Amino acid sequence: MQTTTHTFDAEVRQLLDLVIHSLYSDREVFLRELVSNASDALDRARVAGLSNPDLTPALGEPGIDIRIDPVESTITVSDNGIGLTADQAREHLGTIAHSGTKAFAKALEKSTEHNLIGQFGVGFYAALMVSDHVTVHSLSGEPDAEAVTWSCDGSTEYTLAEGARESRGTDIVLKLREDSFDFLDKDKLTEIIRRYSEFVSYPIRIAEEQVNEPVALWTKRPQEVDEAEVQAFYKQTCGDWADPATHIHVHADAPVQFKALLFVPAMVPQDLNYTDGRRPLKLYAKRVLILEEARELLPEWLRFVRGVVDSEDIKLNVSREMVQQNRQVRELKEQLVNRVLRHFKKLAKNDEEEWTAIWSDFGSVMKEGFTPRPGDTTDPKDKLTELARFRTTAGEGWRSLAAYVEDMPEDQDTIWFLTAPDAATAARSPHLEAFKKKGIEVVLLTDPVDEWLVGALTSYKDIELKAVSRGELDLEDDEPAETVGEDLVGWLKTTLATQVKDVRVSNRLTDSPSVLVDDEHGMSANMQRMLSSMQPGMGVGKRVLEINPGHPLVRAIEALHGSSRTQQAAPLAHLLVDQAKLTEGHIDDPASLVDRLQTLSTLLADGLGVGAPPADHPVPDEPSEDSVELESPEILDSAGDVVPPPAD
Ligand code: ADP
Repeated sequence: MQTTTHTFDAEVRQLLDLVIHSLYSDREVFLRELVSNASDALDRARVAGLSNPDLTPALGEPGIDIRIDPVESTITVSDNGIGLTADQAREHLGTIAHSGTKAFAKALEKSTEHNLIGQFGVGFYAALMVSDHVTVHSLSGEPDAEAVTWSCDGSTEYTLAEGARESRGTDIVLKLREDSFDFLDKDKLTEIIRRYSEFVSYPIRIAEEQVNEPVALWTKRPQEVDEAEVQAFYKQTCGDWADPATHIHVHADAPVQFKALLFVPAMVPQDLNYTDGRRPLKLYAKRVLILEEARELLPEWLRFVRGVVDSEDIKLNVSREMVQQNRQVRELKEQLVNRVLRHFKKLAKNDEEEWTAIWSDFGSVMKEGFTPRPGDTTDPKDKLTELARFRTTAGEGWRSLAAYVEDMPEDQDTIWFLTAPDAATAARSPHLEAFKKKGIEVVLLTDPVDEWLVGALTSYKDIELKAVSRGELDLEDDEPAETVGEDLVGWLKTTLATQVKDVRVSNRLTDSPSVLVDDEHGMSANMQRMLSSMQPGMGVGKRVLEINPGHPLVRAIEALHGSSRTQQAAPLAHLLVDQAKLTEGHIDDPASLVDRLQTLSTLLADGLGVGAPPADHPVPDEPSEDSVELESPEILDSAGDVVPPPAD
């Protein structure tokens, strides 16, 4: 292999610049990062070895060795893990692939805070915090792989050359900068390892002396483990820098024996919704790691839960494919789901604030559980319903359905909800007007997944859940105070036939002129819009237009319709539809809306007596006496009383 020189990609260069120049105080985390990479490489070798008999075996027991050379002023971190091929070195060390590092780089753009590196970790590049020259000697465990040497001096380039390592694994050699010579001290390195890498599950040796005691914390009895240990374990095994929001430590014996230590992160991981996002959920069989990301162990709607599961009932040599079909794994999954939900229930009961903090981060993911996917063995709907928290019109906080029902007036027999694309659109929805007037609480659903949730959750404690935007509203004493003539409604139906399927007088509205109503059954417009954003061309079907007979716009239309200016009524009628769509945050045809607004402006101007003057009358500098006189507009009277405009 020839020596070749390569340029780092832009993201790496940016990161390097930062690591080298500005993060002096957190220098010691370089060791944590390298040890953690070594531990990952050992994990990977173990897992790969289970399914690939051709993998080159390691020399000696799996472990991590740290050597200090005071003469050369170097520190070397070695492992006998999976190693790197030349291609992998180029790919993994020349670009930022890991989403956590990406998240860090993003956070940096926004922040001037300097301890970010301590919180996020920048992985391998942290080596450049203490050294001005990093060399990686590696031999991959893949059959026929050749040894490779990767080297970089903190500039914008790195080189790849033939390597000399003879057994599987990786040595990372750091040539320390003068300002970092204090790390050439065994005691100092030992102290750093004890602080940051206590739960690495492989022996770590410094100058041949083992400095850690690998413990499988999950195997200890839950009562014997203290909070600080659990938090340190979480950070180490799940690669987070913050303490978890909560943890679940269980030992179970039947039907499947297992021990698990599971965590809910305190912050939403950036890659939570990516299909290839990281899911640190390790499966062990009798303390031997089988899978690093055992996605099969929990359903998708619990994908934010991470940690370790260890079972004696799982065979050591199961491969990923076998895990998917394994009966024991299926039973294990069922038990894990039950344990997690039981823990959540307890949290919700004991500390509403703690629970709503978790719900506000992960509720939208948990709501997916209302519509189980193939392979999900449990139907968690009832349990999730009790755990679910919602925003409602009752105030700022989160509400459970139990609380909603508890506060319902005696004569209310429906749980009302509104689905909308976002909170602002929900808040201004005309559908809420009648409910506000009557003081009826409405659940506001603004997650995309909510449309599926209400499809699955149609009642709670035998009380029907109903959308405020569907069908004819049947609230008590809701007869509209005013009404409009039958012939106006008939005319509107004909005029708007291409846009709406029917027109009727509303008992939903107090302030808005109009609203569009979904069918009693079938897809809501919100759902149709979501689907059409995934599948263009689908569009939203026609709905019923309800009009507010007391609203000045409706009165104006009626007045125009009954006058000789009836042709001006049509653009305003269309405006009723536009206005209803605008409150939903959508307008299909902005250009023709502009035309209609133009008509409206002309009418207004006419009403005020300031319409465009005939060509032979130039616009006066001062308003004419006529126009000043007309203080109250004829068309849109603020009191809602419309004086029919004079016939031309
Ligand atoms: P990550 O957060 O993915 O570990 P790093 O920048 O620390 O990001 O490392 C980048 C990649 O380089 C790793 O994901 C891994 O593929 C590879 N790598 C780093 N150190 C080692 C090692 N000791 N053995 C094998 N591969 C390694």
